[in-house]
Amino acid sequence: MNSDNLITAVLALRKARRVVVYTGAGVSAESGIPTFRDADGFWQRFPPEHFAQWSGLFSMVLSEPRRVAEFVLNVVEPIAMAKPNAGHLAIGTLEQYVPTTVVTQNIDGLHQAAGSKEVHEIHGSLWEVADVSAGRVVHRFTRDQLAAIAAALRAYTEERESALKLLSVLRRLYPYDWLGRHRPNLVLFGDSLAEPAWTKAEQAARSCDVMISVGTSGEVYPAAFLPQYAAAAGATVIKIDPKPSAACWLEGNAGTILPELVRAAWGS
Ligand code: NAD
Repeated sequence: MNSDNLITAVLALRKARRVVVYTGAGVSAESGIPTFRDADGFWQRFPPEHFAQWSGLFSMVLSEPRRVAEFVLNVVEPIAMAKPNAGHLAIGTLEQYVPTTVVTQNIDGLHQAAGSKEVHEIHGSLWEVADVSAGRVVHRFTRDQLAAIAAALRAYTEERESALKLLSVLRRLYPYDWLGRHRPNLVLFGDSLAEPAWTKAEQAARSCDVMISVGTSGEVYPAAFLPQYAAAAGATVIKIDPKPSAACWLEGNAGTILPELVRAAWGS
């Protein structure tokens, strides 16, 4: 790790009055959830032009049901099994030292599981079902329910079954309504960001002294504007990622660097 950047990061954190931690898929990589754009990432196996929009997914259910089942299985199963890693846990300890807001692009719920209290999920959550007409969450899955859906998807991919059978399995991800109002609480390409999470995220970015950006390629907009808003408002932007960055870059994996950073700043 670049020691000048570590000193800059530590000094900024020690005098900060408000910190925003902005996370992407990389913070959960060490919990066994694949990222999207790395060499072994999700989009290599499931191209976004087919899989990243509701319309593409629905049209493929009839023509390529097994491929859709594999895609949804690859999203649901790792998240149903995942536990927070040392990076999530270090972020969870931050609020002992400084008021902290977490803004995440992730849908896995691991920041809350690691103890973070104020978390804005700007791309929604796989754990929730939303009523799109009322704009509210109507159901929250338990880990057992999500694991049972993953098991049903796995069974589907291993047997030769009809598209109709797949639809009945997928229906378990947005139950309790047959009027088309309910769906997984997820933001796909072309959707608006989740509210009020996005408005709160933007306010937090514009009013923090330090933003720690962890494990995001910065290619998904408008989320990727957040570090720019923070920098424009005078905040120090620290970037934790194995890949280089123009910001105050701490090179490495979230599970190693975040605990080191918290220890260096507050000695614990
Ligand atoms: P991305 O795949 O575009 O980028 C991942 C970034 O993480 C890269 O910069 C990579 O170098 C870095 N990285 C890889 N391993 C790391 C580690 N151990 N520690 C720190 N950094 C690491 O992901 P993105 O920028 O978050 O954008 C993808 C979109 O996909 C997001 O909008 C998000 O909603 C969604 N997504 C969510 C999850 C999840 O919920 N866990 C997983 C995949 C994708």
